Amino acid sequence: LYVQADLAPGKPVLLDEGQSRYLGTVMRRSAGDSLRLFNGRDGEWRAVIRETTKRGARLEAETLIRPQVPELDLWLLISIIKREALEWAVEKATELGAAAILPVITQRSQPARPNPERLRVIATEAAEQCERLTVPVVHAPQPLDGLLRQWPNERALIAAVERDDAAPPPPPISSAAGLLIGPEGGFDPRELDALRRLPFFVPASLGPRILRAETAAIVGLALLQRP
Ligand code: SAM
Repeated sequence: LYVQADLAPGKPVLLDEGQSRYLGTVMRRSAGDSLRLFNGRDGEWRAVIRETTKRGARLEAETLIRPQVPELDLWLLISIIKREALEWAVEKATELGAAAILPVITQRSQPARPNPERLRVIATEAAEQCERLTVPVVHAPQPLDGLLRQWPNERALIAAVERDDAAPPPPPISSAAGLLIGPEGGFDPRELDALRRLPFFVPASLGPRILRAETAAIVGLALLQRP
């Protein structure tokens, strides 16, 4: 279970009403039971449930089971696509270890803006399910041009560009990087021109077929982390 609290031997961990309900109804645990906790910083801990009430629960961290290990510093920048497809991409990107997920407003993005809180819940549940020890940071939607203006030069930006036969596959990454995926209608030509002028821009092809944006996100994340 993902918690915000610090984890250390004997440290009390308080759950709010929502998490406490999840503990009882989904995880089927009650006072005296043990469970595993992580907070994205202190590794994975075995904890025991000391008390549950209608308003919350009190747990106590006992022993460290898995230490925190360094993870990939790979961000997924995904143009806003249809809600279900975007939610699916957030779940899969979490399983694939993305450190951050940035929904991006591009010229051809879907007009409806995703709710970052809902995407955070999806990312948290996916992190719990796949037993990673961090939850990706899910940002609020932001326009591509603003994002590129603030982009740190040392972070490569690998952009999946369809119909570019000259582009190589995504390179295996060993340092900070971002993967940029366009919307269902692809990037606007002016967006591609702007991207091509950036010093940190790396174009990448994902093969001869046009993949759906959410498929492209998953394929790109997998290819970038091959040895
Ligand atoms: N409407 C566009 C077209 O027909 O050219 C297709 C857009 S595609 C559905 C959505 C996004 O997925 C693209 O903007 C790109 O980022 C990525 N993508 C899909 N297939 C790709 C490929 N073969 N190589 C690289 N990127 C791809």
